Amino acid sequence: MNEIYFDYCASTPMYPKVFDTFCTVSKNMFANPSSFHKLGLQANTLIEESRETIANIFKVEPSEIIFTSGATESNNLAILGVVRAKKKDLQTPHIILSAIEHSSVYSCCEELKEENVEITILPVDVNGIVSVEDVKKSLKSNTILVSIMQVNNETGAIQPIKEIGEVIKLQDQISFHVDGVQALGKIDIELSNIDLFTISGHKIGGPKGIGALIIKNKTLISPIVFGGGQEYGIRAGTENVPGIVSLAHAIKICISEQQSRKKYLKDIHDYMYSEILLIPELIINSPHDHLCAPHIFNFSYKGIPSAISINILYQKGNIVSSQSACSSKSQKLSRVLMAMTNDEEIASSSIRLSFNELTKKCDVDTLLHAIHSMVKQVKTKGRFSYV
Ligand code: PMP
Repeated sequence: MNEIYFDYCASTPMYPKVFDTFCTVSKNMFANPSSFHKLGLQANTLIEESRETIANIFKVEPSEIIFTSGATESNNLAILGVVRAKKKDLQTPHIILSAIEHSSVYSCCEELKEENVEITILPVDVNGIVSVEDVKKSLKSNTILVSIMQVNNETGAIQPIKEIGEVIKLQDQISFHVDGVQALGKIDIELSNIDLFTISGHKIGGPKGIGALIIKNKTLISPIVFGGGQEYGIRAGTENVPGIVSLAHAIKICISEQQSRKKYLKDIHDYMYSEILLIPELIINSPHDHLCAPHIFNFSYKGIPSAISINILYQKGNIVSSQSACSSKSQKLSRVLMAMTNDEEIASSSIRLSFNELTKKCDVDTLLHAIHSMVKQVKTKGRFSYV
């Protein structure tokens, strides 16, 4: 059976050229980049060149790029690091996030409730989008951080980051963190009003176990991991040299091909949208057109639990998912869809499709065919039969 992958949001294969970089650097640059001998210095030079490459792409200073083990760590560093740095001056700091943040932001903020941190969780509208007005209304004199993702990883909903940034920049004491994992390479990114920006390697054709947090120099932040003082003292631990070099390489490719990728993915997304719209049994959860990133499409089949649909579609070789891979182990109901719809049936029956430039139109047709036969089977027999 031919398998077709529709879960690029959860992880991507490495670009072949990035894989070559990863292998070469892993083999040859094994020395510790903090060592003072020649091999250590060579490894360190590679890190600094990669930092500079990434800084140039994002138009920030090299010292503003901090390498981490991935987006989960970057998000934790952004939140815990800012809270630690600013808590010294405040009895009860206040942070704002949205109800649809990735669990690495959401759970991290929930943890902070135990530490006397006041949390505001903003609702989203039916499109899964946060209101700028709500952000404005939630700001208080003790607010120190706002964390809103750029593109939601379940629905693809694009958040009004530019507008929120404009509101926050008027308040000196507030840092603005944006989880940009699902935005990079898929929509345009503008960092001028953002203080902290999260990136993950394995979502953009790079390896797993590497990510970055862009921290603008003026941002007050404390480390959350202590040790040898690497990464400007903000993130201790021996640097992942092959991961860092490969991350820079992946970002370079990902950005240089962004315009053609965007167009290609939008055509696929529009096609999927118009075809699913024709099946009355299905409910589309992703917003339409410019409100949605072009690589994510989410729908629900009310009454049919996600795990069942995923299984049925896999019987025809289609690899799809429901919620974020990081939440699927712990939750049956999608927190994101509950925030959007407050409908348990929708939130327990969602399917998330995610595409990349390897997705072909004929793959989408195969998937659509499988979706049609799944719906037909339920309609005629009132149940599924497993083969
Ligand atoms: N944020 C978002 C929006 C994501 O989609 C993911 C991955 N599911 C993460 C953070 C966590 O990324 P990582 O696997 O690099 O820790």
